[in-house]
This record gives sequence, C-alpha cells and structure tokens, in this order.
Amino acid sequence: MNKPVMPKKLQYDNYEPLYAARKKVYPQSVSGTFRRIKWALMAVCLGVYYFLPFVRWNRGPDAPDQAALLDFPNQRFYFFFIELWPQEVYYFTGLLIVASVTLFLMNSIGGRIWCGYLCPQTVWTDLFYAVERWIEGDRRERMRKDAAAHRWTLRRSCEVALKHAIWLMIAWWTGGAWVLFFSDAPSLMNDLAAFQAPMVAYLWIGILTSTTYLLAGHMREQVCTYMCPWPRIQASLTDEWALNVTYRYDRGEKRTSVKKAAELRALGEHVGHCVDCYQCVAVCPTGIDIRNGPQLECIQCGLCVDACDAVMKKIGRPTRLIGYDNEINILRRQQGQPPIYRIVRPRTIIYGLFIALVVGIMLYALNTRSLLKLNVLHDRNPVAVTLSDGSIRNAYTMRLLNKSGFDRVIAIDIDGPVNATVHVVGANSVMPDRPEVVIGRDQTTELRLLVTAPKENNPERSIPVHFHVTDIGLGVVASATDNFVAP
Ligand code: SF4
Ligand code: SF4
Repeated sequence: MNKPVMPKKLQYDNYEPLYAARKKVYPQSVSGTFRRIKWALMAVCLGVYYFLPFVRWNRGPDAPDQAALLDFPNQRFYFFFIELWPQEVYYFTGLLIVASVTLFLMNSIGGRIWCGYLCPQTVWTDLFYAVERWIEGDRRERMRKDAAAHRWTLRRSCEVALKHAIWLMIAWWTGGAWVLFFSDAPSLMNDLAAFQAPMVAYLWIGILTSTTYLLAGHMREQVCTYMCPWPRIQASLTDEWALNVTYRYDRGEKRTSVKKAAELRALGEHVGHCVDCYQCVAVCPTGIDIRNGPQLECIQCGLCVDACDAVMKKIGRPTRLIGYDNEINILRRQQGQPPIYRIVRPRTIIYGLFIALVVGIMLYALNTRSLLKLNVLHDRNPVAVTLSDGSIRNAYTMRLLNKSGFDRVIAIDIDGPVNATVHVVGANSVMPDRPEVVIGRDQTTELRLLVTAPKENNPERSIPVHFHVTDIGLGVVASATDNFVAP
C-alpha cells in the first residue's frame, strides 16, 4: 500500500500558515481624533474599574453601603439602588442577552469597534504600551534598543526594570480592584495590607496580576489574533454595509512618493494619494498593513486613520484616505457615484428594537417586583394526620422573604377547607387564628405551619389551600397555593 504523500507547501499558490512566528510590533505614537477617543474611553473604563468599589450608596442601617457589591456570603448583588437575590438570577441572563446583542449591533455599525476601543485586552495593552513608550521612547528608539539588546548598559537595565515594575504594579492593582467588588472595599484593603484577608482574595489577586502582566505586557496583539474567538464570530455576523477601517484604494492607488508623483503627473500619468510612507503600518498595534484589505488581525482602532490624516494634511491632500467605510462605497466612487452610508437598516433596527425590548422588560420587572415573597412546601411524610377529635391536620414549611430595607410585621391567613385554622409553630397571635410574625429587613425566615380542618368540614379529597401573607403596616399582600390533603 502506498504511503500518503504530504503535500508540499509550495504546491499551494496562496499558502498561509495558520500560525505565523511572531514578529514583534513597535507601535508608534500618534495623535488625532481616534487616538483622543481611545484615550477618553480608556480613562472611563479604567476609572470605572479601579474606583467604582469605593463609591458609596446609602441603603440604610446595617445594609452594605458599597454601590457595586457581589456579596457571595449573604447571597446578594448590589448595584446602586438595585438589590438582587439568588432567586432573581434571571436578571443576569437578561443582562447577558443585552450585552451580546449590543455587541452584534456595534459590529453591524462599525465592525470590531468593541475590540478597538472597549475590550479589556485593548485597553490594558494600550496602557502598557503608553508606559513602555514613556520609559523606552517611541518606535524607532525602542527598535534600536531591542536591536542592541546584547549591549546591556546600566541605563538600559534600569529602563527595563522600571517598565516591568510599573507593569506589575498596574497588573497588581488590576487584581486588587477585582477582589474589592466582592467585599467592603475599604475594610478589605486594610485586611489585605495587614495580611488578614481571606486566602481566596490573595489567590485572585495573584491570578489577575499574572494574567494582566502576561496578556497586556507580553502577548498583546497575539491574544486578539490567536486566542480570541470574536474575530471569527464577527466575520460571520457582519454585512456589506458595516463601516470598517478601509484603505480607499480608489483614491490611494497608484502609490508613489510625493516627488515621483509630481513627476508622473507632469507626464500626464495617473497617481493616487498614498505616498507609501508606511505611517499607517508604523502606528498599527497589530502590525498589519491596512492597504492589503480587510484582515482578521485588524481591531478597527482607527489609529492608522489618524496617522494617514496627519500625512495628508502635511502634503496638502484631502484627509480620510483611510477611514471607516465599506467596499460598496469604493465601487460607487469608482463609478462616479456619491457614497451612501446605511447605519439605519433592517439589521440594526432589529438589534436596536430587541435591545429596547429586553431592557424594557427588565426595567418593568424590576420596578414592579414584589419585595415580599413566600414559598410554601407541603410536608411529605405524613401528608395528613387525623387528630383524636376527628379533625385533619396538614403541615407545611413556609419560607418568607423580606427584600425591603425595613422590618415587617406579617399576618398569615389561609383560604382552603371551610373553617380551617392555621397555626404557626413558635409565633404569637394577637388575633385568634391569624398568626403574626416579624421578619427583619433584607432577611429570609422559615416557618412551620399547621393547617387544621374541623371534623365536620373534613374534605373528602385534596383541595387547594391559598396562603396569604399581609404586611400589617403597609397592607402589602403576597400569596402562594398548595394542597390540603385528605388522609
Ligand atoms: S489596521 Fe488600523 S484600524 Fe486596524 S488595527 Fe491597525 S491601526 Fe487599528
Ligand atoms: S499613511 Fe496614508 S499615505 Fe502613508 S502609506 Fe499609509 S495610506 Fe499611504
């Protein structure tokens, strides 16, 4: 049997390896509209992440006053005026749906703008690059220093040590800020400093410090290119109207230097606006050349737009040779037609309406949800007991939830077998047959209920029994239904 022959790479015309050896990227600093937007969004994202745990929100005495808190020991999630219990975990499902569809909407408007401006990997990598540039200099200087890596001077050693120290500090603070969302931030900070915090806090700080340092400091664009699934997913979600960072080759080609362009024009030859200066490549954080068309590595950050605009201004040509655009407009311009932009189209309308619908449902549910709840569970064994006087008794476990920030006095009534009475084990009753219990603010109480039907009204079969709990002060009522079982 013939052995299968491995095809030679060169037999493929456009062979591209699935994994290419890394070429280190040295993004150059750039200024312009998109760079300013990125700085502003970075400040907002990092500001929220690092400082939100310190924002206070008064929820009354004995309640945590941290605005954003995931209180796992007490099974509560607090976000400003919202307090969610474990039974309300479906709000998180709603949030995840809104977040996903918002991502789809962003993608259908501006391609991978999430990746370019808001993704944590981009934000932290950008911050780490800023530190690197501040200490080691801009692109050329860093390239020169790396090329001379064998010459370790004292100054160079100090620079590298300082850079890594600052990176580690940022990474450590990133991990530190994360755990502050899970406990009272000021107290946890004191405990951390005194080495008295729970071990799990140190563990999470260690995990996030190392991952931030590794992903933002060392792996950088490799995470976007090889690790993240979003570029592949978004490629299947996009359409021809999405505005992606595009080299307008209809304007740019044929590329040539300013000097040569003047000569060729004098000879009556067509030349484009691109002067082949490679500034768009030099500033790219993923190291690609956008003039080669749409590429998986492009995170749509717009920095090449800023770089090219600066060049165009300098040589007196119109800006936006690179810009947020699509192939349709390039073809239209080539045919002498004006470009058209369709941000509002069926796809974006459907996404927008869906987001509005889910957010609306969540807000409605949040505003109308009852802060007094109960669950009732019938005893399984025995399901019914016949007492010595012939009456029948069923027992239940009632779980009462008081989600409000104040104590409640609750009266319990039933509606089931005729003249049946309810008794709560251990509760005082001001009125006969109407037990009252006190339930503290933000608490759950479990009660044992005995419902007794007198002999003359004994039901012959199981019948529904309705339990009503009434807040005596406010008149708020909550109900639940179970069965009263005949022996
Ligand atoms: S090609 Fe331009 S938009 Fe794409 S990643 Fe590079 S700089 Fe950003
Ligand atoms: S920055 Fe503009 S002019 Fe320079 S190479 Fe890139 S596209 Fe051409």
